[in-house]
Amino acid sequence: MHSFSYERATSVSHAMESAKGGGSRFLAGGTTIVDLMKCNVEQPEKLIDVTFMPGLGDIKVFPSKILIGSLTHMSTAADHPEIKAIAPAISESLWRAASPQIRNMATLGGNLLQRTRCPYFRDGLSNLPCNKRSPGSGCAAINGVNRNHAVLGTSASCIATYPGDFAVSLVAFDGKIHIHGDEARIVKAVDFFKVPGDTPHLDNALHSGEFITAIEIPVSKSLRYSHYLKVRDRSSYEFAAASAAAGIELESDGVTIKDLRIALGGVATKPWRLVALEQQLVGKPFTEEVIRRAALTAADGAEAYAHNEYKINLIPKVVARALMVSGSLV
Ligand code: SF4
Repeated sequence: MHSFSYERATSVSHAMESAKGGGSRFLAGGTTIVDLMKCNVEQPEKLIDVTFMPGLGDIKVFPSKILIGSLTHMSTAADHPEIKAIAPAISESLWRAASPQIRNMATLGGNLLQRTRCPYFRDGLSNLPCNKRSPGSGCAAINGVNRNHAVLGTSASCIATYPGDFAVSLVAFDGKIHIHGDEARIVKAVDFFKVPGDTPHLDNALHSGEFITAIEIPVSKSLRYSHYLKVRDRSSYEFAAASAAAGIELESDGVTIKDLRIALGGVATKPWRLVALEQQLVGKPFTEEVIRRAALTAADGAEAYAHNEYKINLIPKVVARALMVSGSLV
């Protein structure tokens, strides 16, 4: 690990001031940045510890929205009684991520910013090419071992999967990300995460020196009747082979779909909202046959590589199962 300096910020403005000039990274739970420094992917000159800044660890529940401070720990949000009651997919996506130790340390802001688990990206000591780690060097995964890589949103530059779960729920339910920088701004979660295109080193819309202060989740009926399904190689401490955040609201007749949300994780280069599928199902009766038939289109446009075709087969099953569970909650 390279040497670096450490500074503790006491306020957001202090952190912003310390970050001026570049070369620094913010440190909160440390579950991502310390890892990446150990494997030589990140080499910051300075770590600015934001853990002790006041006011960013609160959860506020209003009639129309949930506002969660960016320094809230994953486990705190996952176990919050009101989030469990009115936003089950949000709570479930947090509980199904990582290990208890990591959930107790990691913050929600850091969780959104976690980087891909592509092994070529994380191998900062080898000379294997990786456009995300070293722009312009190539992509070792495209013709390498790519069982865990994406089938949606890929490019000739990068096929790495976005690894998070919480962000998938956030994208499904129109979450927003509050950002502090030279100017404060709020970005829709669906626009925050980037597909690689020809700039795979840019994971998201956060600019250098900016800081996530809060996460906003609109309250809705479909969020109330929601579910996060995660399919993985083992039942704990594992990233998704495929996952889905789903929610349904029915009309007063108890059958017709009024609102439906569905987003995928583990299969795409960013949390992947299935807008066309949502539009296709609104106004239709909620039956298993209708859901299963519509889910067959969920992988439209997907492209498999040598070892990950199974993900294309998995997507319709995960979508149908997540929606059927959500519908059973109504
Ligand atoms: Fe790097 Fe992306 Fe290729 Fe992985 S898939 S080696 S992260 S460029």
